[in-house]
Amino acid sequence: MADTTLMDKLVSLCKRRGFIFQSSEIYGGLGSVWDYGPLGVELKKNVKDRWWHAMVHARDDIEGLDAAILMHPKVWEASGHVAGFTDPLVDCRHCKNRFRADDPRIKGTPGQPDAQCPVCGSKGTLTEPRLFNLMFKTFMGPVEEQAAVVYLRPETAQGIYVNYINVLNSSRQKVPFGIAQIGKAFRNEITPGNFIFRTREFEQMEMQFFVKPGTDEEWFERWRGWRMEWCQGLGLTPGRLRFHRHGPDELAHYAKDAFDIQYEFPFGWQEIEGVHNRTDFDLGRHQQYSGKKLEYFDQAANQRYIPYIVETSAGADRVTLTLMVDAYREEIVEGETRVVLGFHPALAPIKAGVFPLVKKDGMPELATEVYHALKRRFPVFYDDSGAIGRRYRRMDEAGTPFCVTIDGETVANRTVTVRHRDSMAQDRIGVDQLETYLREQLGA
Ligand code: ATP
Repeated sequence: MADTTLMDKLVSLCKRRGFIFQSSEIYGGLGSVWDYGPLGVELKKNVKDRWWHAMVHARDDIEGLDAAILMHPKVWEASGHVAGFTDPLVDCRHCKNRFRADDPRIKGTPGQPDAQCPVCGSKGTLTEPRLFNLMFKTFMGPVEEQAAVVYLRPETAQGIYVNYINVLNSSRQKVPFGIAQIGKAFRNEITPGNFIFRTREFEQMEMQFFVKPGTDEEWFERWRGWRMEWCQGLGLTPGRLRFHRHGPDELAHYAKDAFDIQYEFPFGWQEIEGVHNRTDFDLGRHQQYSGKKLEYFDQAANQRYIPYIVETSAGADRVTLTLMVDAYREEIVEGETRVVLGFHPALAPIKAGVFPLVKKDGMPELATEVYHALKRRFPVFYDDSGAIGRRYRRMDEAGTPFCVTIDGETVANRTVTVRHRDSMAQDRIGVDQLETYLREQLGA
């Protein structure tokens, strides 16, 4: 399978099975904005729940937060986003396409007569590079004037920094401790693409860990290791994950050290999560811009300081895409192609399909009974339409790890078959043991 076709196949599977749709599709779509359908919303929710569990519920030293998307505009001055969150862009006056100034396809120097547009091939039509801010702007209140400008947040992190004192004062935490948040972020990306890899509206799962200056490097190392372990725990193919350390030219203005966790996508190795040592830059700037003291008093050391911050920042959509890319496989079974999304059972959107073999002889009634009993515990799906083989294939494409079939024997002795997605092997299980059996298999 050629790698570029994998992305196309995934996009069409996502639409066919209800994982992901183009935003506003009936109006021709909106560039690089996507909607999650019934299966997609479950898959992404499983990713977020797993992250929240690992970062907040399973730890004593991290608190959760849900800050608003709209924030005081000064936040973005303090953070450096108003001044620095920009990409230089060039436009082609002829075909009206827009490119990043460093687009490797551009021949010559933009703004000069020798420069050639990579799309229409015209020479001398590319404008001088102009800075383009990646933040979406809107207006607060009824008047559309400069004083009313607010931004849609381009990262969730700032909501954590401005609440650090609130969380500290209202919880029993002491430095070192962290604050975790999952939420929407918006970036007016110039070169979005690769399906949900880089979009203009996305969700981040970010955690900011506040530490005593001087201990930041050891905490950074710990978090780097823990985050890689979490990514590996998603069941991704070993060998497709690696670290990439930022060189001096890649480091963000706030960062002392940074590692990306990268996954090998069909379009190359790309970041799915960043781990950054942000020093005291953020709290220092917010202290300066707000005029409020953001120092921490360390009772044990009898010392005041602005904590250093180790950040872990992952994209919920990007991790969801990673799961789908990694899980997609095609196999030939009895002369036909079987498409499977081999998700880790704990992440699969539907845990089991429940099917009556035929729509008669009491099977639908028993199947409905089994379905309702299981539905109290897991997301399950009832399907009685079409040949049983086709129903299995539909569940394979949805990544459902188990299919429970109610047949003639069920009516006779209350046992069902449980078919495993990956091996296609079938076990015969008593209806009474089914829930326990599935729970064990799912590791739930
Ligand atoms: P990239 O260079 O890939 O755009 P970045 O270095 O700007 O990413 P960060 O600002 O470190 O990314 O954001 C942290 C995480 O948020 C990324 O690892 C990614 O998973 C996610 N993310 C960032 N931008 C987008 C986007 N436009 N669409 C989807 N996810 C994104």
